[in-house]
Amino acid sequence: MKALVYTAPKKLEMQPWPDPELKPGEALVRVRAAAVCGSDVHGWLGHSRGRTPPLVLGHELAGEVLEVRDSGASGRLTGERAAIYPLLGCDQCRFCASGRDYLCRHRQVLGLHIAGGFAEYVAVPVKNLYPLPEETEYVEGALVEPLACGLHMAGLAAGDMGQVAILGAGPIGLMILQVARELKFPRIAVVEVNPHRAAAARQLGADLTVNPTYPNCWEELERFFGEDGCAVVFDAAGFSATRRLALKLVSTGGLVILAGLGEQETALDCVEIVRREIRVEGGFAYCRREFQKALEWVAAGRLHTAGWVREAALAEGQKVFEDLVSPRGEGIKVVLRP
Ligand SMILES: [Zn+2]
Ligand SMILES: [Zn+2]
Repeated sequence: MKALVYTAPKKLEMQPWPDPELKPGEALVRVRAAAVCGSDVHGWLGHSRGRTPPLVLGHELAGEVLEVRDSGASGRLTGERAAIYPLLGCDQCRFCASGRDYLCRHRQVLGLHIAGGFAEYVAVPVKNLYPLPEETEYVEGALVEPLACGLHMAGLAAGDMGQVAILGAGPIGLMILQVARELKFPRIAVVEVNPHRAAAARQLGADLTVNPTYPNCWEELERFFGEDGCAVVFDAAGFSATRRLALKLVSTGGLVILAGLGEQETALDCVEIVRREIRVEGGFAYCRREFQKALEWVAAGRLHTAGWVREAALAEGQKVFEDLVSPRGEGIKVVLRP
């Protein structure tokens, strides 16, 4: 088959790649849509320890089930259109037993440990197929995964219903924004440098967007949050600057969710965390229940993609990635079509 192969840092090439071989209990899927994740871009830049070339990236995907090997479900699933749950747990540990394979120490991820979705075909365990309702397009199916991330992050803050700040309006920031809106968090401010991303955040219902490089940014945020303060900060960027801003913004007793993977280490004012009893939590991926819920939201039309999601041919991959890393680039979320 043909695949878009990550061959070296900053290099993607359409190349022949071995056809997937089905193990018992696996399905062969013809990929119809595979979205580019920030972590794919991170890997492409050569910054991801887990992603070493040559590798087929891509873990946000949907496709058509062509064949199922040795599974009682084969008759039912062949010909189905499905979103793919991209995490493969060990099935032995307590996390896998409770549907939280994302925390499994031995988990494997499509497009990281094994060949992913930027290809014509992919092999996945049958239990990782989530059939799409008839009215749901493949492109939306590929966005179930990042929406599940948004549901997970916002869900972590469900007990802290109050004013929200989201740092970074990349795909995950915009997913958190949409979910927070749907969950009725009262007012939401988004901090973003890129004007195209800030515009997308406004279109998706942010009450305020500010550019952190502008001198009046801090005053604007203070005025916006007022006496009530900011109950929850989602850091969807993950850099030292955003992590420090999160601590500065959050109200006393408030919650900071660290969801961005931008930088490994950051020096933080821990005395501030102690004295103001700030809760700092990590947020990562999603569980199977959240993936299923994301699929239901997509089917119910609760995900808005206009203005920030675009499609491109898989063969255009190299250009798409170059645009996504350009600081003033217009691309936000791109779904590749093999
Ligand atoms: Zn992702
Ligand atoms: Zn496990």
